[in-house]
Amino acid sequence: MSAAKNVYLFGGGKADGDEKMKNLLGGKGANLAEMAGHSDLRLPVPAGFTITTEMCNHFFQNKGKFPPGFDKEVAAGLKHIEKIMNHKFGDPDNPLLVSVRSGARKSMPGMMETVLNVGLNEKTAQGIIKSTNNPRFVYDAYRRLIQMYSDVVMEKAEGIDPAEGQGIRQQLERELDKMKRARGVKQDTDLTADDLKQLIKIYKAKVREVLGKDFPEDPMEQVWGGIRAVFQSWNGKRAISYRRIEGIPDEWGTAVTVQSMVFGNMGDDSGTGVAFTRNPATGENVFYGEWLPNAQGEDVVAGIRTPYPINEAGKTEHTAALPSLEKQFSKIYSELHAIELRLEKHYHDMLDLEFTIEKGKLWMLQCRVGKRNGPAAVRMAVDMVREKLTTPEEAVTRITPAQLDELLHPIIDPAKEKITATFLKGLPAGPGGAVGQVVLTANDAVEWTKQGKKVILVREETNPEDVEGMRAAQGILTARGGMTSHAALVARGWGKCCIVGAGDMHVDMATRQISVKGTVVKEGDWLTLNGSKGTVYQGALPLIKASGENPDFVAFMGTCDKVKKLGVRTNADTPQDAKKAREFGAEGIGLFRFEHMFYGEGADRPLFLLRRMIVSKTESERRKALEELFPYMKDDVKKTMEVMDGLPVTFRFLDPLLHEFVPTRQDERQRLATDLGITSEEFSKRADNLHESNPMMGHRGVRLGISYPEMTEVQSQAILEAAAELIQAGKNAKPEIMIPVTSTVVEIEDQKKLIEKVYEKVLTKFAMPKSKLALVVGTMIEIPRACVTADKFAAQCDFFSFGTNDLTQMGFGFSRDDIGGFLPKYLEKKILPADPFQTIDQEGIGELIKMGIAKGRAVKPNLKIGICGEHGGDPESVKFCHKAGMSYVSCSPYRVPLAKLAAAQEAAADLLKAKAPAKPAARAARPAVKKAAVKAAVKKAPAKKTAAKKAPTKKAPAKKAVARKAPAKKAAAKKAPKKPAAKGKKR
Ligand code: PEP
Ligand code: MG
Repeated sequence: MSAAKNVYLFGGGKADGDEKMKNLLGGKGANLAEMAGHSDLRLPVPAGFTITTEMCNHFFQNKGKFPPGFDKEVAAGLKHIEKIMNHKFGDPDNPLLVSVRSGARKSMPGMMETVLNVGLNEKTAQGIIKSTNNPRFVYDAYRRLIQMYSDVVMEKAEGIDPAEGQGIRQQLERELDKMKRARGVKQDTDLTADDLKQLIKIYKAKVREVLGKDFPEDPMEQVWGGIRAVFQSWNGKRAISYRRIEGIPDEWGTAVTVQSMVFGNMGDDSGTGVAFTRNPATGENVFYGEWLPNAQGEDVVAGIRTPYPINEAGKTEHTAALPSLEKQFSKIYSELHAIELRLEKHYHDMLDLEFTIEKGKLWMLQCRVGKRNGPAAVRMAVDMVREKLTTPEEAVTRITPAQLDELLHPIIDPAKEKITATFLKGLPAGPGGAVGQVVLTANDAVEWTKQGKKVILVREETNPEDVEGMRAAQGILTARGGMTSHAALVARGWGKCCIVGAGDMHVDMATRQISVKGTVVKEGDWLTLNGSKGTVYQGALPLIKASGENPDFVAFMGTCDKVKKLGVRTNADTPQDAKKAREFGAEGIGLFRFEHMFYGEGADRPLFLLRRMIVSKTESERRKALEELFPYMKDDVKKTMEVMDGLPVTFRFLDPLLHEFVPTRQDERQRLATDLGITSEEFSKRADNLHESNPMMGHRGVRLGISYPEMTEVQSQAILEAAAELIQAGKNAKPEIMIPVTSTVVEIEDQKKLIEKVYEKVLTKFAMPKSKLALVVGTMIEIPRACVTADKFAAQCDFFSFGTNDLTQMGFGFSRDDIGGFLPKYLEKKILPADPFQTIDQEGIGELIKMGIAKGRAVKPNLKIGICGEHGGDPESVKFCHKAGMSYVSCSPYRVPLAKLAAAQEAAADLLKAKAPAKPAARAARPAVKKAAVKAAVKKAPAKKTAAKKAPTKKAPAKKAVARKAPAKKAAAKKAPKKPAAKGKKR
């Protein structure tokens, strides 16, 4: 290990590393190197060095020991900083101070530790006082170091776990408060240099008293303590929790960056801030950020002070009176604005920046791809494609399924919201609506949620320790903190509804209640949040699903359509579902299940007729029932095709489990018996005869059409006549007939004869040529035997649609309705990686599918092939379908956008792999607020980067392991359900 390079230098226009080295240098280290050293950037970055993530792993694998020679690398790193910054570490006359910061591959905001002002001691403090002539600033920095160091290095890294409120940081905080009270001042900034000098003495004594050790005066001891503590914080409680939630592997480790300090708290000509190249909450293309004069970075992000807006454009009604950086320091603002433009052009993505102004000089401390919520992410992707800042292929890889899902997420019913008085206002940090009962601690949020309650986590200020509670809560509300506070960042990353900085709220932990201008809300009371507007309402307002009418969403779907190769249809059984699916961009219906018409509103009569058909004994009884059923079928079919005008609609023949439809209620049985003219004893006999031991493998699907050809005939007639009527009326109906649960091609041959006869009759009846109404007949492939003999099927079929629900059932031999009994153990013991009914088992079922496709296409190279099992909406499975060469996937309406995204991402991955796209033209159409700085700024040539970055695709959180347990079929027959416990119903 010692032979390897463990320390990477940056600063002075050069860097050892670059942005592509995130795995080794962490996101922060890699981006600092890029900003400092890339020839297109060379930004003012304080010099520093980054210790690799590999060293973090070494540290843990060797019980905290570093390899020989590493100390020399660190010493050389310090020398490098000294040379560039012109200060010397530990030199009492001209001391260098450094920060020691964490930085994992993927940003984990606030989850690990940082130590600032390292290198300060009694002697170096005097040196800085001499050079700055600012004793107050120096003593303030010193007392901050003691506070941070004792907390992070001497307590947390040592594994000391003090009682609630007894941590060294809190104890020192109390000493600070005591001092403020004694001096009769409110703000830290009101304390004088002498006060702070005295406070340092008090701090040191307290550290000795509480931790039994002295605060180390030796700068080298401090820097090593800092490095160790940052590594240790990789395994701190909150970092571990965050990793579990985000699925970040433990073995990634964190890098450590040691960097020259620059100070934003050196007086009124100094300051610090956090900014985004675009608004991370709305996606608007306006430079957005927050800053504080005379402050250190932690003051902005820790949510202790509500920060000021960076520019006039970013002002809200809450912040209108606060001074913007743009007004206060217009030159620095222009410089910063110019830099953010260069950076965005360089990375072609929205960035999150940290900067500090030290005595009028701007320093860039960090840049990374900025977290954003779903609506913002989609808007940015659409805008950046329009601005030619990014390609459509790159844009689609930037959106995660969860982010897209956010656009489809609930919002407060606008009609109700309009007439409800706003209780409280804050900053809109995370979008959408949330309703829940108030809890005041993260633990309660977790506990109450476990009990099945919906909660809103309400806190005075944001705190990264609350991460688990934030995750569990429906929404988060805090009294303090800005849009860049930890809570806001974390919530935004999760797309969670969040409001911060609701300054009128007071949280009283003692009485466990909150109050807003005299109105009290107790723990357990209901609140509703609108995280898109920052408004809070008392009580529980109704939430409604968002629609697909958002113009950014529509444009983004257009981008996905451009990139993807796979078609995306929907599974819809009613005109209403079909309409919704069209709104979401469905390109047809891949599965219309006839069963739907037998439950739900208006289903009484069709259900009665179906039941009559099922218990019929003779063909004439059955035909009579079917004849009566016919108009209902035709009506449903026609209305659905009307909605889908111009798009194909695949009608799947009835595939019910027959006995489930037999009523159990005596009065219903009697009504049917009377209708059929039979005794109730005879009825019971017929019903008993329908019982099957294993109905999933029983008299269903095509088998019904084989036994009762009249069923096939009537359904075909309903479909084809409905289509003919629509066509005659000038519509473009495109029906497809799909035969389910087939295992041999002879079944298809048998059924096709019946269908073709009906087709001829319909053409004659409507005097319609074949060219106007094509007959398209295909099959579902749901049985392994069908996969194996797919070549034979292909000769008879116009299309295949993989019914992966049944194919998984038959392939595994797992009952789709009973898997809940054993799946949890399978997942727990890692016998299966995921529920195979949710994500295609590529190793087994996937191979069957591939075989089916290969055999089918060997006979018919252009055979249309789709999937209509539940997997058609699962992003991983959609990607598999793309790779397998399917023509389309079909899924429920709300999953259509996610399927489109997954299909586009997979197509983009193919393209990006095949060729590194030419760098898009560096033309950015930006609004006025951007323009002023552009001219001054963009002197440099456009970035030369060629390889397009692929944004990490967040894996959707593991879905609930237990499969939906369908009502037990046997029990269903006894329990007399109101609606039949039909197979189709539970899907
Ligand atoms: C399937 O088996 O995948 C399918 C779509 O059919 P059903 O769920 O109706 O059995
Ligand atoms: Mg099926």
